[in-house]
Amino acid sequence: MFETLQDRLGSILNGLTGRGALSEADVAAALREVRRALLEADVALEVVRSFTDAVREKAVGAEILKSIKPGQMVVKLVHDELIAMLGSEGVPIDLNAAAPVVIMMVGLQGSGKTTTSGKIANRLKTRDKKKVLMASLDTRRPAAQEQLRQLGVQTGIDTLPIIAGQSPTDIAARAVQAARLGGHDVVILDTAGRTHIDEPLMIEMAEIKRKSNPHEILLVADALTGQDAVNLARNFDDRVGITGLVLTRMDGDGRGGAALSMRAVTGKPIKLIGVGEKMSELEEFHPRRVADRILG
Ligand code: GDP
Repeated sequence: MFETLQDRLGSILNGLTGRGALSEADVAAALREVRRALLEADVALEVVRSFTDAVREKAVGAEILKSIKPGQMVVKLVHDELIAMLGSEGVPIDLNAAAPVVIMMVGLQGSGKTTTSGKIANRLKTRDKKKVLMASLDTRRPAAQEQLRQLGVQTGIDTLPIIAGQSPTDIAARAVQAARLGGHDVVILDTAGRTHIDEPLMIEMAEIKRKSNPHEILLVADALTGQDAVNLARNFDDRVGITGLVLTRMDGDGRGGAALSMRAVTGKPIKLIGVGEKMSELEEFHPRRVADRILG
């Protein structure tokens, strides 16, 4: 396992106990270790930079207290700043709009979009007593459409019948119409992903958005995404305009740096996290826990 940041900072800073304030040189040495820890946790480089700048500002000149070791003091500063950057906990999905409220799920193929669509629908149904309709817009992968249909059967949630040959935007419009007629409170649009971001995907997402007027656009991303996280989040946010993030595979053994990267570049809240393959394995986001995990 990695040496904890606390240990590393302890060996650099604890000799300073009782020596006034942290100097720029002390802080620079400490920040080198913070930077290493964040990179090991897969936080994207540009986010590591802005993060360490923010910590530097708070740490230089900070008084070294007798009651707490300087290493611990800096760890606390780093921890607090991480929590502040990760944002608030328990930001709910916003259903405050005229029914049917449209939730558009976006993300790369394999990120867990379809599974998360099912999980969110299931949660809205069982916890919030909402009537939900799910629709797959992945016209290029019949298996994906079938996967959503099966999740619907498994959870007892309506799915829009598949009509071969319809375009994603037409399916989106049909889903909203069907929800209106069916008295559904919420429509979840499970859009198509690609293995990487490309122009046609972004155009398709923008068109679906225009056609369906979603109230929430949730970017689903694998928590194990490394340096790509920034690019991914920025692209979807700039081109489609996301309202929140859902990080999947938080049950994996990654350190979850992608959470910080994506939150930092978009400023959008992490609304939920996926912690397994089962429909019930969806949880609220707790910044403190993720901060602990990033620091190891
Ligand atoms: P999509 O291509 O984005 O729709 O991705 P899928 O929903 O098909 O998910 C891809 C795989 O990841 C499936 O095997 C899911 O069961 C799995 N998966 C999705 N979310 C999670 C999660 O939170 N934890 C774990 N361990 N697996 C997940």
